[in-house]
Amino acid sequence: MSNHLDQLREELDQVNIKILELINERGRLVKEIGDIKTSQGMKAYDPVREREMLNHIVEQHEGPFEYSTIEHLFKEIFKAAKELQEDDYQKTLLVSREKKPTDTVVNVGDVSVGNGQSQFVMGPCSVESQAQVDTVAKSVKEQGVNILRGGAFKPRTSPYDFQGLGEEGLKILRNSGDRYGLKVVSEITNPKDIEVGSQYLDIIQIGARNMQNFDLLKEAGKVNKPILLKRGLAATINEFMNAAEYIVSQGNSDLILCERGIRTYETATRNTLDITAVPVLKQETHLPVMVDVTHSTGRRDLLLPAAKAALAVGADGVMAEVHPDPAVALSDSQQQMDIPTFEYFMEQLKQPNVTAHNI
Ligand code: PEP
Ligand code: MN
Repeated sequence: MSNHLDQLREELDQVNIKILELINERGRLVKEIGDIKTSQGMKAYDPVREREMLNHIVEQHEGPFEYSTIEHLFKEIFKAAKELQEDDYQKTLLVSREKKPTDTVVNVGDVSVGNGQSQFVMGPCSVESQAQVDTVAKSVKEQGVNILRGGAFKPRTSPYDFQGLGEEGLKILRNSGDRYGLKVVSEITNPKDIEVGSQYLDIIQIGARNMQNFDLLKEAGKVNKPILLKRGLAATINEFMNAAEYIVSQGNSDLILCERGIRTYETATRNTLDITAVPVLKQETHLPVMVDVTHSTGRRDLLLPAAKAALAVGADGVMAEVHPDPAVALSDSQQQMDIPTFEYFMEQLKQPNVTAHNI
């Protein structure tokens, strides 16, 4: 009895191996057929052919399984082979580490992002006046920061809120940048403004609300200008990477990613800073990754701990907002730092124990 059982089990093992071999053989055939179809410009998946194969199998079927069981099993086998084809044909993303194992360093003139040295992007939420931006720029320069920010085209939740100064704002930002020897970054929201943006700016920002504005991404991919792409309000890391791919696939690989918090059920902070997105993006892509602590936390008291956390997990830089008088700021007055707070913030981040990088 026990001998018979052993023998049956052995036969079963052999059948399993045969099925395995046949499934793999089938996979190889499907792949070969797929290659021929692709070379002839035909689509790999053919539902009519799949239905014919299933009918043929069911006609030959004699039991003991139910017809529906056989159909189900074969559909799974078909599906596996189809996935094998898709894997093969799905392009490995240009932004992926798999495609390019070495870190991309984005050079903004003589300032490098992603070379192991932390970079800071500091400045007001919105450009309001030349005097306002100059005041911030002076302090930003004194703190050893290289990149000045300031919004000119503001994507506001309410249409009745301050919308930004537009091109005039870009001019003001450029003036301050030139006056204090700083690189400047500002958000562009409309594909037709990418060109004008690249006249005034050293880095073009694409904001969270526009992360999947594919026309904007494509335009950004065509200019010879570094791009700072922010993660969408509710975008997965995969969606973020694909948005980045839109830019890089158009030929512009000077791209910096920026985690800026995502929507969750938590209300203690404005958004939830997805801190592990930093190491995930560093692993999955070769691009520099920054963290915006202002828009992620929405809280002035959390800017410093969030920035420390960002640097500790390997961010290449930190963005935060600074305003000479946040109480009267035309946007984000809750979370911008005033100048003394900003100075303290930078002093703390320059402490040697905060990061292995030096600024
Ligand atoms: C900004 O940086 O000015 C901004 C609007 O940020 P976000 O797109 O991340 O909301
Ligand atoms: Mn802001």
